[in-house]
Amino acid sequence: MRALVTGCAGFVGSHLAESLLEDGHSVTGIDCFNDNYLRAPKLENLKRAREFEAFEFVPVDLARGDLADLVGDCDVIFHLAAEPGVRSSWGDRFDLFLRNNVLATQRLLEAAGEDPQRRFVYASSSSIYGNAESFPTSEDAVPSPFSPYGVTKLAGEHLCQLYRQNHGVDTVALRYFTVYGPRQRPDMALHRFCAAVLKGEQITVFGDGTQRRDFTFVDDVVAASRAAAAASAVPSRVYNVGGGSQVSVRRAVELLAGLAGRPVRLRHTRSEAGDVRETRADTSRAAAELGFRPRVSFEDGLRAEFEWMVEHLAAAAAAAPKRRRLAAPDRRPTLAARVGAGR
Ligand code: NAD
Repeated sequence: MRALVTGCAGFVGSHLAESLLEDGHSVTGIDCFNDNYLRAPKLENLKRAREFEAFEFVPVDLARGDLADLVGDCDVIFHLAAEPGVRSSWGDRFDLFLRNNVLATQRLLEAAGEDPQRRFVYASSSSIYGNAESFPTSEDAVPSPFSPYGVTKLAGEHLCQLYRQNHGVDTVALRYFTVYGPRQRPDMALHRFCAAVLKGEQITVFGDGTQRRDFTFVDDVVAASRAAAAASAVPSRVYNVGGGSQVSVRRAVELLAGLAGRPVRLRHTRSEAGDVRETRADTSRAAAELGFRPRVSFEDGLRAEFEWMVEHLAAAAAAAPKRRRLAAPDRRPTLAARVGAGR
């Protein structure tokens, strides 16, 4: 199988591309290195995929480039490229959300419409629910985004639906719930928290920390995405992909303090516009129709992200020894201590 993975230099896309390559598939990866975070970590994300001969990277901007040949060449499309993030979607950056989430999706669907049989898996988001009225939230809940980002992700879902109805494109939308794990985007809470703990800095928590999220480990998201591509039928067309464990931000910080082996210092700021109180996925539809079951507990997943951050900071410190030094780790033999070893 040849898969097209858009957003392959990003957090989730890079894991998905690797998983496909490891199982012997060919992957054409597309990314334009947009500026939501630095190019260097995105290049780093691509490193492993680039070791496979069956991987071809094409630096294309989906909102502008010629997509017909890229799409024509593949058996399945995983569309993960996007301008992600709730908080940054207000104000001046909104045009980027329109461009990279709505226009880019429309252009890719237009190209896919030339040969509509191939499966088109769209990475949607729990953000389309906003402050849901009931929990766990099923796909039948009326979407009510609470941020401009959520509006653009919902627009992408609608585009998938109308290209299916009018042009027969075999689309399926997956509503990912807060994805975490190694390579998580630097703007996301657990990435910021892990980095702050290891650097001995204060953790900034938006609001009182009682907000709760259905955190989904990245390997589970990859498994759900691949299941959606492989299923012979996807009758419901829209599926929640949640991790099965709902955790408050406060609890996540406590667990991190345990991993670091030292207390953490917190600084609370106002809740940010667009942040919802709670998310919790009803995943029974994905279980029944895609055979999806999340496998990674929050404790194990957080440990994996923390360990990755230890390595990541150690590598950064080794590459730039003159830059600001990391805080000295505790004397206890913790994971944090390995950051020091990497200097
Ligand atoms: P990411 O920013 O790490 O990856 C997205 C990639 O898309 C980036 O590398 C970016 O350069 C690329 N891109 C953006 N616009 C592009 C364009 N016009 N042409 C080509 N490439 C472009 O984000 P992520 O966290 O990996 O998210 C992946 C997908 O999952 C997104 O669609 C996002 O909306 C969705 N999602 C993510 C989460 C989460 O918690 N991370 C939750 C719900 C949904």
